[in-house]
Amino acid sequence: MRVSYPSLPLTLFNTLGARAEPFAAQNPPKVTLYTCGPTVYDYPHIGNFRAYVFADILKRVLRYNSFAVQHTMNLTDFGHLTDDADAGEDKMMLALKRAGKDITLANMRTIAEQYGAAFIADMEAIGNLPPTAYTKASDYIPEQIALIRALVEKGYTYQTSDGVYFDISRFPGYGALGNIDLTAQKEGARVEANPEKKHPADFALWKFGSLGWESVWGKGFPGWHIECAAMAFATLGKQIDIHTGGRDLIATHHNGEIAQAEAATGKSPYVRYWLHNEFITINGTKISKSLGNGITLRGLRDRGFSPRAYRYWLLTSHYRSPANFTFEALSGAKQAFFRLKRFVVEEAPPPSASLASKSLAKEEADGGGAVIEVYRSRFHEAINDDLNTPRALALAWELVKDPTPAPRDKAATLAHFDEVFGLGLSGDSDTAAESLGVIEISNLPEEVQILLAERERARKQKKWDEADALREALNLKGFLVEDTPKAVRVTKA
Ligand code: AMP
Ligand code: ZN
Repeated sequence: MRVSYPSLPLTLFNTLGARAEPFAAQNPPKVTLYTCGPTVYDYPHIGNFRAYVFADILKRVLRYNSFAVQHTMNLTDFGHLTDDADAGEDKMMLALKRAGKDITLANMRTIAEQYGAAFIADMEAIGNLPPTAYTKASDYIPEQIALIRALVEKGYTYQTSDGVYFDISRFPGYGALGNIDLTAQKEGARVEANPEKKHPADFALWKFGSLGWESVWGKGFPGWHIECAAMAFATLGKQIDIHTGGRDLIATHHNGEIAQAEAATGKSPYVRYWLHNEFITINGTKISKSLGNGITLRGLRDRGFSPRAYRYWLLTSHYRSPANFTFEALSGAKQAFFRLKRFVVEEAPPPSASLASKSLAKEEADGGGAVIEVYRSRFHEAINDDLNTPRALALAWELVKDPTPAPRDKAATLAHFDEVFGLGLSGDSDTAAESLGVIEISNLPEEVQILLAERERARKQKKWDEADALREALNLKGFLVEDTPKAVRVTKA
């Protein structure tokens, strides 16, 4: 059982109203949280993972503050259009074409299942706790149709030759989230993609097509924005506490969700706190598959960076600040992450000792050391300040460098911080060694083992120049050698 600490106000920046606000749940200790998930037509890029890591940190911070979080994340597994304003090409169709498969609902589902499974594996690898429910949009077709019917009956829609549309002029608050300038949108629309639309910001609730599901309006697909509202209703209720996503979703997707939800239920607000993350850029440009800079977690792994090292890098910037990704910065984060992890693993007593103390009070819960209260309360303040992870990480390093506390207490405190960081800082030493990239000597190529043995001999004979030269030779072969109090440690350079 978690020990509860003195409560502290939790401040979150609400896009609705554009200000930091104290958080209060509708029905404490329960918090309902919805996160817009991926369209599972490809591997998400590393920018997308900022949105999911940020949502995970939020959830961990809520838990840290003794809330019980009910969290839904959707997996969009059938077509919506590449452009959220109902233009462009359908992403799932693109995936089918790329795989050389016939365009059928069954094939769409198969492809979505493959990428969905890969996404869930990546979520785990990057240290995100699973949501209470991953909801697949195709499992909620009747709910989406029912929601559209309610909107049609209440007079919020009109029909064109290609679908059923939401008429934003019937919903006066449209665009309030993010203060969207709809006049500019109208004037700025260079080519009117659909001349039958009354306003460029009207959006499709149902799109006709030869593929898809039967409905009273004809065969087709639900529009994109309806799926999130329908799944939030089905899993969390008609009015939810928090909704997250990247800031590109504010203008259309989230304003669309609000309009549909509030028009259908007559209840406002649909969501009490809207939280959005800023973008990760590369060379100052938004990451996007079409620009060819869409690095994936798999791509990072191929270059020797673990998903947790990337998570560490993400935590070094605040979720509402833009962050520019570089491999230099990631290398720095990887080193810092390893050093932090090594500190916790090496200073915490062996797992058997910590197991025995796990059932005891908080002072002994994290590997035998005591959580240091002055650091814990400062940590609590940092994370409650709109999830200020850079401040919390800086505090972790201040603690590591503080010469006063006992190392095992420092390790216990860092392991405690990790409830929110989710970096996997503690854990048994084998898995820790593995995630540190430490290679068993017996698994090294034979020539490398010989060089290592020679270096050991040189060290024993105190021939330091020779030992250094051998370390250099090992480095050139792609291995980093370090001497720790316990043993020599080899990792990939
Ligand atoms: P999408 O698959 O495009 O709907 O994006 C999934 C999530 O990632 C959404 O919440 C987006 O807002 C977010 N996102 C997309 N690109 C970036 C980026 N470069 N940096 C941060 N978040 C992003
Ligand atoms: Zn959504």
